[in-house]
Order: sequence, then structure tokens, then C-alpha cells
Amino acid sequence: MLYLDNSSTTPVYPEVLEEMLPYFLEEYGNPSSKYYSLAENSKNAVEHAREQLGKFLNCSSTELYFTSGATESNNWILKSVSSSLPDHQVITTVAEHSSNLEIANYLNAQLNIHVEYLSVDRFGRINFSELESLLKKRPTSIVSIIWGNNELGSLNDIQKASELTAQYGALFHTDATHVVGKMKINLSELNHVHFLSASAHKFNGPKGIGIAYVKKDEDGIPRKLTPLIHGGGQEQGIRGGTLAVPLIVGMGKAAEMHQVAMSKNIKKLEKLEEYLVQLLTEKFGLNIQFNSDYTNKIPGIVNVQFIGINNEVLVKQLAPVMAVSTGSACSSSKPSHVLQAIGLSLEEVRSSIRFSLSSNTELKDLNIFQEL
Ligand code: PLP
Repeated sequence: MLYLDNSSTTPVYPEVLEEMLPYFLEEYGNPSSKYYSLAENSKNAVEHAREQLGKFLNCSSTELYFTSGATESNNWILKSVSSSLPDHQVITTVAEHSSNLEIANYLNAQLNIHVEYLSVDRFGRINFSELESLLKKRPTSIVSIIWGNNELGSLNDIQKASELTAQYGALFHTDATHVVGKMKINLSELNHVHFLSASAHKFNGPKGIGIAYVKKDEDGIPRKLTPLIHGGGQEQGIRGGTLAVPLIVGMGKAAEMHQVAMSKNIKKLEKLEEYLVQLLTEKFGLNIQFNSDYTNKIPGIVNVQFIGINNEVLVKQLAPVMAVSTGSACSSSKPSHVLQAIGLSLEEVRSSIRFSLSSNTELKDLNIFQEL
């Protein structure tokens, strides 16, 4: 079966698993314990992974906090920052992942925080004049904009959005879940990006582990987020819970591997995407319509309408030979809010399929489209 649902999750690289295994079996110490070597070894492994991730994202490792994934990071950052300034508005977009949208909705409904949702264009990108007019309207605590869209692949200009936000004195967060591993990220050059979320399983690491990047303030002092998970003082006292050492080790290794192979993987994904688009066009011609555009996007995500065909039926029919999805796995029971936000009718949304490739996919594997 050909796996083309890499935006839902990716397989763990064998080298990543190999690196993790000793931390289940031999090196099982709790990194927060003291004085004996099992604990020290675990602590060192965690800090090594933090360093690997710091190098990968070009930030200080002391600005990275381990969480259970991007869902938790998004919830934590938005809730903590906005509730410290409850009379300020939060600005996000209509095309965020459900984990961002749902916390924004919660902030509004339960904490009475004013939330504005930026609209997006035909491909899911924000409009800067709309952002500026919202920033002018009310004081803002935080602006949160997805970097690479998980359904379409479209990239937002995060540098420009964060610089504009800074002019109005607000903090800036980006959900970078789909750009980590698919694009070089240099946080040291993004001076006005204060927070970032990501999950390891989107770049061949294990599930259930992620990071929250929390930039130090102008004086180099760590910004103290209010914990979302209260506990035993781990992660500089702002994220409780025993550290998931094997998962953290796996995330660090996956980051290192992607850093080494970044340019090669990007080139391969671009080639694969080009070939997939060619094959789909040859095979289905006027019976399909592409929802994704071709430039300024994450390589490897192609979202397509199969005109007049129900996407659930098609995904089921393809399942014996090919794994694809109708959109985000986290909201798969509902018609995609992202595709509705770019202006598609419900019928068009219900005929759309997302193909997501990986550097493990081979060009020849895609020839299966000729046989459909
Ligand atoms: N943000 C985006 C853009 C995603 O695509 C996902 C997962 O699909 C998440 C956040 C949540 O990640 P996780 O389920 O690993 O917490």
C-alpha cells in the first residue's frame, strides 16, 4: 500500500527508533532524580536532544520546552499569554489547525477574551492590510498565524506578519508543525517571533512529543508562561510532568537527521510533487481541480477536487492500494473548515482529497496513478 498521508503523521525513521530504545530498557532513570548515574544519563540525553533541536531551529536550546505535541503548545501559549492581558484581543486566522481554533474559541467563550479571525485568500494566506486594521482597532496580546497550512501547504509570510505585529506592541506565535523538517528555520533571524509550536511525528519522530519555543525577552530573561500543566517543577517550572525521555531522544535524533538531509529532501519532495501533479493531470484532466497552488508552499502537499465525486467514498475505495485523506486527521469527521475558508462550496469541499508525500516516497511508486 502506498502511504500518501504524511501530513497526518510520518513513520519513525529506524535510526530514530534505535536511538530511543536504550531509554526504555537500560537508561530508564528519571531525569529529575538526583545523584545516581541512571538519572544523570537521562538528564544528559534530554539536554542533548534540546541542543539538537536548538541547532535545527537556530535558537538557544534554553528557549525550547518539551510538551506532548503542537496541540499542547498551541493551547499553552495562547491561553497563557492572553489570560495575562484579558482586556486585550487575540488575533488568529480562520485557517488554523483545530487545536489553535478551539483554544481561541475557548478563550472567547469561557474567559470573555475578544478574538478576531483573519480571513484568508484563495490559497489560505492572510492579508496584511486586514491584520494591520485589526491591530489598529484594539490593543492586542498575541497574534497567532499558521506558518505552513496543513491542508493546502500554502506558506504565510511569518517574518512580515511578526514585524507588523511588533509595531503594535503585541507578541507573535506561529504554528510551525508543517514547516519543521520541510524548510530551513532560522529563529535567530525572526526577531519578532516569540513563540512557535511543533510536533515530532510530523518529521519522522515519535508521536506524543513536541516543543514550544518561547523566546527570551529583550533583556535575555526567560519569559515565564503560566503553566497549562501544573506539576513537579520540570521544564524550568513552567511545564509539569515527568519528561518522556525516549520520545525526547527520538525527537532530537529526527531533527538532526532532517537538518543533515534538508536540501536533498526538499529537492526530492519538489520533484515528487511535480510528478504527482503531472500524473493527476494526465489521468483525470478536466475532472479535477487543484486547490493548492504551486509556489510559496511546503513541498509535498497537493490538495485536489475530484469533481462530482464524494471524497469519503473515494478515500475508502483507494484504501486497499493507497492511504490518503480528506484533510486534517484531527477534524476528519467534519467538512474541512480550511477549504471552506478559501471559498470552496460544501460540494467542492466534499470532493477534495489531500495527497501528502515524504522523502520516503519514490517517484516510481507514484506510477500507481496510471493504473487507477
Ligand atoms: N498544528 C497543525 C498545523 C497540525 O497539522 C497538527 C496535527 O495534525 C497539530 C497542530 C497538532 O499536532 P499534535 O496532534 O501532534 O498535537
